[in-house]
Amino acid sequence: MMSRTYEDVTRYVEDQSQGKCKVLSAKTEHTFDDLGHKVNVWNVKTDNDGDWWVVEGDQSPMNLYPQGAYYFSADEVYSFHIGIMQRMFSTHDTYNPEDYVKAVTLDNDIAPTLFRKLKNISALIDTAIEIEDFQAIGVQCREILIELGNSIYKPEMAGDEEQPQASNFKKKAELFIKSYMSGSENSEYRSIIKKMTEGTWDYACKITHSQTATFYEVSTCVSLIISLVNMYENVRQKSSDPISQFQCPNCKSKKFNVTDSEHDENGVISKLFLQCEECGEVTQIDFIEK
Ligand SMILES: [Zn+2]
Repeated sequence: MMSRTYEDVTRYVEDQSQGKCKVLSAKTEHTFDDLGHKVNVWNVKTDNDGDWWVVEGDQSPMNLYPQGAYYFSADEVYSFHIGIMQRMFSTHDTYNPEDYVKAVTLDNDIAPTLFRKLKNISALIDTAIEIEDFQAIGVQCREILIELGNSIYKPEMAGDEEQPQASNFKKKAELFIKSYMSGSENSEYRSIIKKMTEGTWDYACKITHSQTATFYEVSTCVSLIISLVNMYENVRQKSSDPISQFQCPNCKSKKFNVTDSEHDENGVISKLFLQCEECGEVTQIDFIEK
């Protein structure tokens, strides 16, 4: 990219003001080359739109900054400009949808199909611009929830009730919660998951029709979806990890090692022996068929 001329800078400032001003003078106030490429800061005066700094260089786009109120010197505007450019380039280089999903889910194990879809919407959010892009993300969010419903639901969960329709995520989630999270000790956990489930579904549906959604609402929707998928994984994992609730009866520590185990005739664990790392107490845990 060649350095700009007096004409380039003048035209740029007049274009930016949408023809409301004329440039009276423009001269290079300072040239910086401390980062290995040339950056010029131009001092531009206009007839009725104040004075401006224009920053441009071999490898940076042209930008303008108002003088006076915000940036008093060429040095200040140069530092500011370089800061913004570095941030722009670094966030663009390092945004990785997979890392985003892993961060929101605390790197939890997520069912592969769901994980792939979450990665996909996290990638889309980075490039969405038009209202149709946002609506399309809403549609995908809703599909992920339907997929989540299929992944957590088993027909026996309905009991005597009628089987829910294939795409009835809310109902499937409700039946799953009922069968996995019974008991008064789960009542708060159950309640927050119910609220999140209904809120997230309704919000995703809203986004699919919204004419006014911006990046911010859609980004909220995407992070809600990722969190919700993770919550259901947590519930599933909790039920298959009965020793997560274990505390040493002697010192109440949750740090322990499994020292021995017994299995029933089918090879399923029936007994575990846990030794407390803190006080050495050994506790036997019996598994009763659920
Ligand atoms: Zn202990």
